[in-house]
Parts: sequence; C-alpha cells; structure tokens
Amino acid sequence: MAVSRESFYFKQFTDLLFSVDLFDYPATWIDDSDIEIKEKIILEKLEKHLDQFSKETAAVIIEPLVQGAGGMNVCRPEFLQKCVILFKSHRILIIFDEVMTGFGRTGELFACLKSNTQPDIICLSKGLTGGFMPLSVTACSDFIYEAFLGNDFSRALGHSHSFTANPLGCAASLASLDLLLLPETQSQIKMIEKIHKEELLLLSQQHSQITKTRYCGTIAAFDLVLSADYGSATSIQLRERFLKQGLIIRPLGSIIYLLPPYCISEIDLKRAYEIIRYELNQYFQ
Ligand SMILES: *Cc1c(COP(=O)(O)O)cnc(C)c1O
Repeated sequence: MAVSRESFYFKQFTDLLFSVDLFDYPATWIDDSDIEIKEKIILEKLEKHLDQFSKETAAVIIEPLVQGAGGMNVCRPEFLQKCVILFKSHRILIIFDEVMTGFGRTGELFACLKSNTQPDIICLSKGLTGGFMPLSVTACSDFIYEAFLGNDFSRALGHSHSFTANPLGCAASLASLDLLLLPETQSQIKMIEKIHKEELLLLSQQHSQITKTRYCGTIAAFDLVLSADYGSATSIQLRERFLKQGLIIRPLGSIIYLLPPYCISEIDLKRAYEIIRYELNQYFQ
C-alpha cells in the first residue's frame, strides 16, 4: 500500500503507511515524440535524489515495462536499463513487481528478460498458476538468499505462513508452466501481439477520440479523449456496453485495455476489436 499511489482503497490506512518517494513512470505510446525528454527528466530527478538520499534508501520497486492497474503505462526497455545501472551504482536493491508482466505477458517469459535487466528481487503471482490457483513467489538473487542461509536460526528469514508451498498450487503452477512453454502457446503469444499491433493502428486511424495507443506483448491499451475517473458513471457505462456484446472490459477510467488469455483464437481477438470499434462509434456519434 505504501508504495502504491494514493488510492481511495487505502484511505483508512494512510496513518499506518511508511513514507516512500515516488517517481513518475515515463509512459510512452506509438508515435510518442517526447519520450526521450520525458525519460531524461525522470532519470535526472532520480539521480539528484540518490546523490542526496541513497544511504537512506533501502530499495526501489518498479513494475517493469508495463505498469498495470496504475494505467497500463508502457515504458521503454532503455529506460529500465538506465534505471538499473543507476540503482546498482548506488548499491540499492531493485525489486521488480512482475505480478502482471510475468509469464509471457510482455511477449517474453519475463519483463526483465525482455528488457535485458536484472533485478535483485522479483515478485510473481497471477500467471504463475495461469490464475487457476492462488500462489505467489518472491525470488531473489543468490547474494540475498545466502544472507539468510546458515545453521543458526537467527539468520533465517523467519517469516512464513500456513499455506506456504501449497501442493495443489504448486501442481497447478507446474502444469501451467508446461503449457506456457509449449511452442503452440508461444506462437499464440506472438499472434496476440501481431493482432494488437494491426488493430490498434486501425483504431487510431479511424477514431479521433482514441489516443496513446500502446502495446507490449499480449497487453494492449489506449486512452479515450474524455474525462472519466475510475469507477465513474462514464467508465461503468462503457463497461456495460462492451459486456452486452459479450466482451469483458474493465476501463481504468478513460483507459481501455485488452489482456486476453493466451488460449484466445485469432477470430475471437479480432471480434473483440470489432466490438470495441462498434461500441465506440455508437458512443461517440
Ligand atoms: C495484481 C497485482 C498485484 C497483486 O498481486 P497479489 O498476488 O494479489 O498480491 C501486485 N502487483 C501487480 C503489478 C499486479 O498486477
């Protein structure tokens, strides 16, 4: 909660949260001409901050390549690489939250692989079991693991819970991994990315109300030129319109995104875009 942006979900807990420093995410999209300058400004701010506060900074937590519920914001691998170099030079632990981006979502197995960056700690969940069973993993590099390794219990990370390594969860996860690594699944992931690319281009050409089209692997998103907060009447109305056509879309305010399961067929994915086109035409006419 503390590292998340202020949210009405967390209001009651505000007094309990520890303080964190937040930095902007250099969100980019297709035909974004300002991205280099945006990244530069953020990196300079980070650098300045670290020059002053690196000793008091325990770790940095980032959603690599795509920021999920925060707005389906896509950033460039170049930015991540520069961040990682900067944090490593200050000896600050890097935590990648890959709960959403992990297990193929960005087109590669993990966003850190796709961006050629190496975090110290990685958080995994959702795609781990294909969403079928609740299971999560926090993995870390050897030097962190070894810090807790020894015969003396005082070294142990004595923090666990009743259902750690739940056998059914682990079995579901292994089965899901087997499926994910099949060549068929890998070509599905490529197919989804290809359709996103083609359809987003069409959408942005046909609708002046659509901006900031972006995709990363199987994740596609765009903004609608209208003001609608998360959970606002407009946002709910849009969701209901899509749902009536059999398409489950949860707009994040004015942001529409598609995160299809890897088993989706080309026909169904194209149909999803057809519905979006149709409903937006109706909505904006
Ligand atoms: C869903 C999500 C979470 C929450 O994961 P849980 O396993 O429910 O705790 C955390 N981070 C990101 C990026 C997510 O998308």
